[in-house]
Amino acid sequence: MSPPFVTLGPWLRRTFGRGVHRVALDAGSTCPNRDGTRGFGGCAYCDVEGSGTGALRSGTELAEQLERGIERVRRRDADPGVIAYFQSYSNTYVQSDRLREVLAVVEPRIADPVVAVSVATRPDTLSDSALECLGELAQRVPVWVELGLEAADDEVLESIHRFHTVEEFRRAVVRCRAAGLAVIGHAILGLPGDGREGARRTARVLAECAVEGVKVHNLMVLRRTRFERNWRAGELAVLDVETYVEWLADFVERLHPGAVLHRLTGDAPPAQRLAPHWGVHKNEVRERLAAALERRGSRQGSLVKPAPGDGADTRPSGGAQVPKR
Ligand code: SF4
Repeated sequence: MSPPFVTLGPWLRRTFGRGVHRVALDAGSTCPNRDGTRGFGGCAYCDVEGSGTGALRSGTELAEQLERGIERVRRRDADPGVIAYFQSYSNTYVQSDRLREVLAVVEPRIADPVVAVSVATRPDTLSDSALECLGELAQRVPVWVELGLEAADDEVLESIHRFHTVEEFRRAVVRCRAAGLAVIGHAILGLPGDGREGARRTARVLAECAVEGVKVHNLMVLRRTRFERNWRAGELAVLDVETYVEWLADFVERLHPGAVLHRLTGDAPPAQRLAPHWGVHKNEVRERLAAALERRGSRQGSLVKPAPGDGADTRPSGGAQVPKR
């Protein structure tokens, strides 16, 4: 039986007609929240690796990363689709020439096997020229922009040193859409000061923005972060799995029914993660979420009020084709 929410794996198979795998690429991007442009020291939960190496990778190095990733995937799947995933977080925080050089790496592999390109960045680092580069690529292959919202509350964002606002996120989604790009919004549940109502509020904003995809995870305390200090001082608590699943169910009920859930829990390596240690596999979190929603008699989007004139044709398509709005 299919779960009462839209999960990524089956959606990818339905959309692209084959198994699709992510190949992570490190373009060595930098971050305006570390170099002083927006802030110093980074977001409170981000470890020092989160902003990439700072050493920009040459086009050749990046092409090698992609080819090696494709080879790895083909050892598991003879005919895979691949998402070229520019993971280090502020990939558009570079000059447009550099962004073009980075994106050019996927060109020879479009369709075989690259079926989508995913670019992680911040809502406040999307220049017009960056959107133009991404929009040009989106004419040949679906392009997803992964944008961190994290929490839909400016005070919470300030307290965790995100140094962008909810309004900047909203504007960034509108601009991405105008450029023909799909958006995957990121959220963290359990940030200090956010609470259960914060989880609901964040979902509502993501639904209002009609993002095509969502990545959500529980707050994790990683080594070498500001949160490590707070946690060691006993000033920061993390959610237990039971509480997380209930808050996650609240969150999913308020998302757009067509948004694809790309991630439902955090998966930081155990050596980096100080808390929590649930000992629960991510598949079990997914099953517990399905059970919680079934107990409530609800499903993804069941608490979203449809906008006047809203219909199936205006719902997020997950980003395989950018929907007309
Ligand atoms: S989470 Fe992203 S924006 Fe925040 S410090 Fe890390 S790389 Fe920068």
